[in-house]
Amino acid sequence: MSTEEEARKLDEADPGHRGLFRVPPAEGGAYPETAYFAGNSLGLQPVAVREELLAELDDWARLGVEGHLAAKRPWLPYHSLLTAPAARLVGALSSETVVMNSLTVNLHLLMVSFYRPAGERTRIVIEDSAFPSDSYAVRSQARFHGLDPDAAVVRLETQEILDFLATEGETVALVLLGGVNYRTGELLDIPRITAAGRAVGAVVGWDLAHAVGNVPLRLHDWGPDFAAWCSYKYLNAGPGAVAGVFVHERHHGGGLPRFEGWWSTEESTRFEMAPVSRPPSTVEAWQVSNPPILALTPVLTSVRIFDEIGMEALRERSIRLTGYLESLLDEIPAAEVLTPRDPARRGCQLSLRVRDADDLSRRLRVRHGVVTDARKPDVVRIAPVPLYSSYHDCWRAARAFEEEA
Ligand SMILES: *Cc1c(COP(=O)(O)O)cnc(C)c1O
Repeated sequence: MSTEEEARKLDEADPGHRGLFRVPPAEGGAYPETAYFAGNSLGLQPVAVREELLAELDDWARLGVEGHLAAKRPWLPYHSLLTAPAARLVGALSSETVVMNSLTVNLHLLMVSFYRPAGERTRIVIEDSAFPSDSYAVRSQARFHGLDPDAAVVRLETQEILDFLATEGETVALVLLGGVNYRTGELLDIPRITAAGRAVGAVVGWDLAHAVGNVPLRLHDWGPDFAAWCSYKYLNAGPGAVAGVFVHERHHGGGLPRFEGWWSTEESTRFEMAPVSRPPSTVEAWQVSNPPILALTPVLTSVRIFDEIGMEALRERSIRLTGYLESLLDEIPAAEVLTPRDPARRGCQLSLRVRDADDLSRRLRVRHGVVTDARKPDVVRIAPVPLYSSYHDCWRAARAFEEEA
């Protein structure tokens, strides 16, 4: 196996941005910091976020309600500070992107517009290994429309999706898939599936929870109808952070049904407090409530980090780092990698099949300070995050795995 010395040398040559983050201390093992591989579940705290939050608290203390207009970053248009960097991150126009609510709530708000079963076209296609929240969301949408969710929701293996669309596409109302699968780490061919779905007349939406901040995205060009993501995984915006949505510009200003509130009306006339809304012809028409400023602050810190470093550069480092971890794991007979071996078909996460995921993950953490994530019963996920993970972390993970598996 590659030596610790080699791992340290790789870190010197390709250092990443660990200094921008607070790496949790290790409880056990030979090193003071954890080797943190759970950024696909909860990303680490950017150092800058504390000061940024204190500044908002100070403005609130100093200004009270005047902060809406007089804060250093006025609260009224605050969400719009996030729009351009978030749009760059997902390859969208600013008019197509807004940061609001949480992921599953946004999926529901988007399905109000984009899941409209009619006649024979009632089905929703998801992956067989879809994240449970997405499965519950689409099943409840089917029920809401008076349909039997067991009949309306079709669960497919990822390699079956294109064939199914080709043969049964006219029965599909909505294709809603994870861009990167949370369990296997597989990156789907988003442009190809999007084109195939749209070609048969289905609406296509993407859940980018595990894709955003992990792989480069070009949503505007790829042309899905909508997308949604959360900000607490690879975006490092903190537990339960405010999420993001994309609605392609071809749907702006049109007649799609939406649920509205006072943030659905255009900003310039909002405070005329008129009884009837005047929605803007942008994705902001999908907003409902005034946003939680203190919760938007960490998202702002986060998207600025991505904006500065650039997703393309991060992806290159990600491919090197995950490839290094893979090469170390390949030397260990007990390591069975479930994730596609082609770097173009995965993000940074490697999923391993193990005997008892919970127990192994616990031993890796307690005995070695290596933080992974267990998916019961038999999958351990290890995500080297290009912003803050190191080659030395990967070396520690492989060594610990070899000892414990
Ligand atoms: C993390 C994740 C969620 C979480 O949903 P919340 O609404 O943020 O609690 C949903 N779907 C997928 C695919 C996820 O990976």
